[in-house]
Amino acid sequence: MRLSRFFLPILKETPKEAEIVSHRLMLRAGMIRQQSAGIYSWLPLGFRVLRKIEKIVEEEQARAGAVQLLMPTIQPADLWRESGRYDAYGKEMLRITDRHEREMLYGPTNEEMITEIFRSYVRSYKDLPLNLYHIQWKFRDEVRPRFGIMRGREFLMKDAYSFDIDKEAARHAYNRMFVAYLRTFARMGLKAIPMRADTGPIGGDMSHEFIILASTGESAVFCDRSLLDLPTPGEDTDFLSDLSPIVEAWTTPYAATDEMHDETTFAALPEAERVSARGIEVGHIFYFGTKYSEPMGARVMTAEGTEVPVHMGSYGVGVSRLLGALIEANHDDDGIIWPASVAPFHVGLINLKPGDADTDSACAGLYARLEAVGVEVLYDDVDTRAGAKFATMDLIGLPFQIIAGPRGLKDGVVEVKERASGQRESLSLEAAFNRVR
Ligand code: ATP
Ligand code: MG
Ligand code: MG
Ligand code: MG
Repeated sequence: MRLSRFFLPILKETPKEAEIVSHRLMLRAGMIRQQSAGIYSWLPLGFRVLRKIEKIVEEEQARAGAVQLLMPTIQPADLWRESGRYDAYGKEMLRITDRHEREMLYGPTNEEMITEIFRSYVRSYKDLPLNLYHIQWKFRDEVRPRFGIMRGREFLMKDAYSFDIDKEAARHAYNRMFVAYLRTFARMGLKAIPMRADTGPIGGDMSHEFIILASTGESAVFCDRSLLDLPTPGEDTDFLSDLSPIVEAWTTPYAATDEMHDETTFAALPEAERVSARGIEVGHIFYFGTKYSEPMGARVMTAEGTEVPVHMGSYGVGVSRLLGALIEANHDDDGIIWPASVAPFHVGLINLKPGDADTDSACAGLYARLEAVGVEVLYDDVDTRAGAKFATMDLIGLPFQIIAGPRGLKDGVVEVKERASGQRESLSLEAAFNRVR
């Protein structure tokens, strides 16, 4: 992408309304635009990152056996009356009336709708296990939308729903999502720690929030330091096998959010092992049994020929919130430092002297070669001051910068800068190409 053809509205001033660094940087880097409290447009740079995150989520959901579909954002109120949640959900639900006076709502989540789909088609244990998910916009009328897209009112969520014949099978489904989440966040370069979360009236141990430690996080969290060094399950993980040893390894050390915190157990840990921090909830997995299938009549036939309500779980990832969490975890004074897996482009190619024939042709050649091998390049071909170019590239945080100017090119070299380390090297065009690809 040539910068001259792109849309990158960089802000020079630090926006006053932004309280935390990720929100500030997203606004300054021209990634999002607020349209109303907690409602944002995703500008091209932000949208590219959102897509990268979605893709990783999709790949790991597929690996774990979840099947993607797409449900609408608008739902009929009657569906929520069936589960009893229409009245219970309260003010966070945006309620809408259509021209025929029918009550509708903008979905804050999709348990009811997926249960409706399931009950319409599935009747037998033979069709289980099943896990259906979508990545769709949600609306929650948060009392205090803040921190940009971190706590938006409209936000993008991945929500998966598992269906199993009994609790034992549901535990396996739960474990598959648990492991998928470990892999998903690790692939984004994030250390997400599964922490025990409230299961409400269902009880048991099958609810975990996946938490990124960050000083700007909204929840107080407590965990055993050993969790920070546990290895992530590999690509070769067999999701058909029993995953409980992995889940056990990750759930045995102490980890709990505020609501579930047990000071006595935590205090018994050696001082050096205790991590008491703040965290960002980027995912939440939950087994809720027959909470929806019972009232909504989603029943299946067992092998023995009896009919039982299906056992369900739901599994959310805050896809849009992850952008904020990623920036909170990866930035310095100059701007964002994207992990390569989610970077909007891999390389920023800076032409220091657009209009100079040799520089233009060297840049155009490198740009074409990198694109040809599938490396995403943002080519700054705009005639602006070098200082502004450097500041913009640092701000938007692409993993590599290639800086090309007439002086270096006279000796056949360009400079390659790695954003994360700040390390710079003078390299031939060929070596630069190989360094960043
Ligand atoms: P929170 O505790 O932050 O309000 P939640 O527990 O209400 O989140 P869930 O119902 O568990 O949220 O939804 C699944 C995921 O969706 C959350 O783990 C979070 O990452 C994301 N999410 C929830 N609310 C928002 C929001 N207002 N803006 C952005 N992401 C959100
Ligand atoms: Mg909430
Ligand atoms: Mg929560
Ligand atoms: Mg939650």
